Amino acid sequence: MAINLSKQLFQEAKRYLVGGVNSPVRSFKAVGGLPVFVNHAQGSKLYSECGREFIDYCLSWGALILGHAHPEIVKKLQDAVRRGTSFGTVTKLETELAKIIVEAIPSIEKVRLTNSGTEAVMGAIRLARAYTKKNKIIKFSGSYHGSIDYLLDCDGILKDFKKDTIICPYNNIERVQELVEKHKGDLAGIIIEPVAGNMGVVLPKPGFLEELRKLSDKHSLVLIFDEVITGFRLTYGSSQEYFKVKADLTCLGKIIGGGLPCGAFGGRKEIMELLVPQGSVYQAGTFSGNPLTVSAGLQTLKILFEGNPYKKLEELTKYLCENIRQIAEKFEIKLKINFIGSMFSLFFANREIIDYNTAKTQDADLFKRFYHGLLKEGIYFSPSGFEANFLSTAHTIEDIDKTIEIINKIFKTYIAKN
Ligand code: PLP
Repeated sequence: MAINLSKQLFQEAKRYLVGGVNSPVRSFKAVGGLPVFVNHAQGSKLYSECGREFIDYCLSWGALILGHAHPEIVKKLQDAVRRGTSFGTVTKLETELAKIIVEAIPSIEKVRLTNSGTEAVMGAIRLARAYTKKNKIIKFSGSYHGSIDYLLDCDGILKDFKKDTIICPYNNIERVQELVEKHKGDLAGIIIEPVAGNMGVVLPKPGFLEELRKLSDKHSLVLIFDEVITGFRLTYGSSQEYFKVKADLTCLGKIIGGGLPCGAFGGRKEIMELLVPQGSVYQAGTFSGNPLTVSAGLQTLKILFEGNPYKKLEELTKYLCENIRQIAEKFEIKLKINFIGSMFSLFFANREIIDYNTAKTQDADLFKRFYHGLLKEGIYFSPSGFEANFLSTAHTIEDIDKTIEIINKIFKTYIAKN
């Protein structure tokens, strides 16, 4: 019955939407099967159109650190919506949000709010190029910074757009040094996810971010931290507080919008002030600093500041991951679990020797089997082996214990025997 309804909904979606979705990974192409059509969500749970309940570890791709429909966010949004949904001019709420961001992340002196992480990254790279008067940007393989022509590798992009993008393996400082040496005459900066979250979770090797900082200082490069995922996720001061390395420019998104579309970039004053209207680098948006987004974001950051839930979130994540690791050992399943703060990924090994620091690696078949086992039992992970999973403050120890119990069952039933 549930499968029939899902099939019907997906077929109908595919008639009108390309691939039935508005963002590709939602189509379940990576794991096969039918996407979960959500009716509503509350706390740590998603409720599907088929009437099923799922413990959600995708959390709108990390945006919902307080869980779904947090009562205080809902209340703020209700108040905000009554006052109007978009003004196209300034509000004092935007200043408040920018102030909170500046106070939380010391390397940020000035902020520009955007509608998405993609726009934030585009703005930051434009600024880096204008500031240095150079063109080239180093990015890391396996990273994702939004659907930006010169950072993507797909059809439809002018070859010329990509010629100034240099791709380097993640965590390989020797290779970065070589590339910087080779291109330094025309190199504007380096952009990195300080913790990679788009090839599954991959942690920076100790010293890697520090070396990038030193190299950027030495060659006057703009170091851009794309903290769209890690911002206000690892700690309140984001990855720069966690790793004690400062960026010149920082991109934010997800959490700072409290579950509404958002983004922001910020950094050193002398770079940020090159933006229009003060400078000559153009950047704009009809809905930038939208009052609903800003209200939800402000409330989210206030709750995070007052509650400081980071230690507890990290402990719960560790508890979940350590338990999964033990179960895998018990069933002799080769599994690597990467986690930090409240983000984690599971990698099923398909080779004897795997370098999890730089390479995408995942046994696709095992992951699919695992994934569908989870869905069947009411657990929703991000629907790809190369995406991160997250915990929220709404996840209880009961949710976690139930998840561990289910994973034990899945490993026993679907993975260990095969
Ligand atoms: N940067 C990173 C690290 C991301 O993970 C994402 C999206 O997942 C983006 C940028 C793009 O953000 P958005 O989807 O809001 O445009």
